[in-house]
Amino acid sequence: MKNEVDLYISSKHIKKYTNRCPLILKETIINFEKVGEEGTIINLFNDHKKFIGKGYYGKQNKGAGWILTREESEKIEQAFFQNKIKAAIINRKKYYHDEETTAFRVFNGEGDGVGGLTIDYFNKYYLINWYSKGIYAFKDDILKSLNNLVEYKAIYQKKRFDDEGKYIEEDDFVCGTRAEFPIIVKENGVNFSIYLNDGPMVGVFLDQREVRKILRDKYAKGKAVLNTFSYTGAFSVFAALGGARKTTSVDLANRSLSKTREQFIINDIDCSAQDIIVEDVFNYFKYAIKKKLKFDIVILDPPSFARSKKHTFSVAKDYVNLLNEAIEITEENGIIIASTNYSNINMDMFKMFIDKAFKNANLKYELVEEFSLPHDYSVINEFKESNYLKVIFIKKLGH
Ligand code: SAH
Repeated sequence: MKNEVDLYISSKHIKKYTNRCPLILKETIINFEKVGEEGTIINLFNDHKKFIGKGYYGKQNKGAGWILTREESEKIEQAFFQNKIKAAIINRKKYYHDEETTAFRVFNGEGDGVGGLTIDYFNKYYLINWYSKGIYAFKDDILKSLNNLVEYKAIYQKKRFDDEGKYIEEDDFVCGTRAEFPIIVKENGVNFSIYLNDGPMVGVFLDQREVRKILRDKYAKGKAVLNTFSYTGAFSVFAALGGARKTTSVDLANRSLSKTREQFIINDIDCSAQDIIVEDVFNYFKYAIKKKLKFDIVILDPPSFARSKKHTFSVAKDYVNLLNEAIEITEENGIIIASTNYSNINMDMFKMFIDKAFKNANLKYELVEEFSLPHDYSVINEFKESNYLKVIFIKKLGH
């Protein structure tokens, strides 16, 4: 049995909750000091003791927990989680039947009714991400639910919260038969090499699936492609397979060289024809401008925040500048693929960044494609921030 606590929302903040925002915020609660340990079930009331919702306490950078139900009589027990996960699986039926794509998101946090929890599928392996100690307190119920619903070779996990150092020592394996890594998954017919036991990033970000596909199918043929913040080179692989004349991948992490080579090799792409450069993107831009290099397609997919030896980068402060660097080395009529997963910036603000950068450069432009999260990354309208991905294809025009 989990502990339960009654918490009261201050009238000042009640609207947020009656508008069905699923996130519990500490500063909106009158008696938050009563909350107890993470994993405690929270019954939320307005200041007239009217029931508003029921959730759990879990500390994330986003908030202090998530509402799970608006039904006062509903119990947060194993069957609750099983029903949510079952509904999510049914919603992903078409992915389970697609032989060309064997990696996708099965359960997407609050979008599927349980904030703080995601489950990804990688060709018969499952990966659970726990975003707080609070949701991790329900581990047994959630594992049992998954066991009742699906067959698998193994389940792995990532604890994405501070577990007082235990995270580093502990293996990410949970149950089943240990995999031999890498495991190979497919995305629209392309191979990806996946490591579920090697740090928080497993080799690919599945949310860019549709962007990679259109890059390959519609844009890459015959083009010189620069992929910045390239990680394992997923965009470069798709560009090469789409017939790009050449790809150049730039990332400052040492691992990116071997990881990107590996992705090329498992897709029978000749590595020697592709450039993989381990360097700070901002240095690379300087070099490219000095050498008057030009690309037909430039991909910008930076992390929301990054610190390198010389630079700190934040999307909010520096994206316009990043775009201006990219504009300089993009051919006229070339395409810049601008992406960000920073949730505090919405699509309209992102378009304003683009507008500002092109005004700075005194150039015209055209927006030619726009993407947000794919169907398996389900989101709810009541919580707009969860639709974090913004990708825009911009055609650079003349003066
Ligand atoms: N675009 C990638 C994902 C990017 S993850 C994909 O499609 O898979 C962010 C990457 O940015 C990381 O690999 C990190 O090493 C890299 N990075 C962060 N700051 C950087 C910088 N200043 N220069 C180059 N790479 C950087």
